[in-house]
Amino acid sequence: MKQKKILVVDDDPDIQDIVRVALKKDDKTFITASNGIEAVEKALSELPDLIILDIMMPRMNGYQVCRLLKNEPLTWDIPIMILSAKYKEKDRLYSMSIGADEYIVKPFGVEDLIDRAERLLARHPKEDKACPVAARALVNETTLLSRVNSLLDRKLQEMTFLQHITRAIVGTFDEGEIMRTVLQGIKTEVGHRRSALMMLENGALKERLSLGYSPKERPVIEQDMLPELQERKEAKVFEGRSGAVNQRCVVPILFRDRLQGVVLLERGLDEPPFSADRINLILTLAGQLGMALENANMYRAKLQLSITDSLTGLFNARYLYERLETEISRAKRYGHPLSLLMLDIDFFKRFNDAYGHLSGDEALRQVALVLKESSRETDTVARYGGEEFCVILPETDAPNAEVIAERIRKTMEQHPVPTGAGDESVTLTVSIGVAQMPPALISAEDLVRIADKALYQAKFAGRNTVRIFK
Ligand code: GH3
Ligand code: MG
Ligand code: MG
Repeated sequence: MKQKKILVVDDDPDIQDIVRVALKKDDKTFITASNGIEAVEKALSELPDLIILDIMMPRMNGYQVCRLLKNEPLTWDIPIMILSAKYKEKDRLYSMSIGADEYIVKPFGVEDLIDRAERLLARHPKEDKACPVAARALVNETTLLSRVNSLLDRKLQEMTFLQHITRAIVGTFDEGEIMRTVLQGIKTEVGHRRSALMMLENGALKERLSLGYSPKERPVIEQDMLPELQERKEAKVFEGRSGAVNQRCVVPILFRDRLQGVVLLERGLDEPPFSADRINLILTLAGQLGMALENANMYRAKLQLSITDSLTGLFNARYLYERLETEISRAKRYGHPLSLLMLDIDFFKRFNDAYGHLSGDEALRQVALVLKESSRETDTVARYGGEEFCVILPETDAPNAEVIAERIRKTMEQHPVPTGAGDESVTLTVSIGVAQMPPALISAEDLVRIADKALYQAKFAGRNTVRIFK
């Protein structure tokens, strides 16, 4: 700690002395101030490497000094250690939220003070900054106080902004909408041209949404930055590696302390630097975002579970009816045909009796597989119950539905089904009833009923066959 300058701000000269002795400072590297206004003056004119700051002081308190300095481009990167008699957790949290780097409670241990001071000093990159006239113009009590006021005003605006965004994203489970709301909000509030949301998927960050990029330039985060990002709970500014990008600010999106993704802000050479206040705001917002995305995920998973048949992964009967209602009204509205297949495995009881229930379950999965493979994206395949399955075929009339049913029947006839007894496999046949929605149809139940009738006819005709309801 040879050449580094330290500013100690405390209205108690004893404290100033203790710190001076502890940190072994001489007159050249030790600056003192005994009130807030003087602290700001000295900080701006001396640009120290570390500021040790009391909270309760005359004229302007430590919180105000801290907020002011952390918002001044000249001083925002100077580490600030708060040395306060306020011992409550909320005081510490508040200090951190306005940008303080350390918080020590008085009376303090000298070793602890030295230790933390050294760590902060090691972190502070000393750049030569010219102290511009504008900064000197600030150093006047009235200007300073009005500056503190306007910072508070901005804080209030930020809170309003946060509240607005939070309300918008808790109101929906739509992941895309949540992401758009947040990124658009950040753009409005922070104003940098390029921003992106990247989410962690299979151990890599994938772009999910971006604003301000031309089709040729895409947001990237180098894979080698990932381990560091996984570790941190704060935002980090990376120096740009290429072309027009000057700096990148990466804000982690955390949920339950685990990295879910990042908000990436890029700063072009012509854009203002990232301010601590703004970055803190985005960090808070990213926390809300993490929570909202997690909620949306959980909701989606629950929804998925409630419409899925757990054995086969197909839709269940509940969803089948729901979807059928939708498809029926759509078919009616556009005057399109609509058909339904009802399929039942032939003599399935025998298979179960011969090979056991577990093999029976596997057989059901095999049938599901065949059905999935023979259906189109727009078809809905569901397990109706037991060993019965349904396929909704939109925009399909009975003759075409029959062709599809026949293809399924033939495929099944040749599809090997493992019996579970060694490598042995057998084939199972199915019977299928086909029903096209009649013009006067009123409900989904009616359509299921007539498909079931056709299925019964197929069984009656000897099984392994397709019948159309007429
Ligand atoms: P049919 O050709 O007339 O349809 O004869 P079937 O033996 O297939 O008909 P039945 O309705 O008498 O038997 C259906 C059997 O399906 C009864 C039951 O053992 C079996 N089954 C229904 N659900 C499941 C299931 O979830 N797992 C297993 N392994 N078997 C099931
Ligand atoms: Mg059967
Ligand atoms: Mg049956």
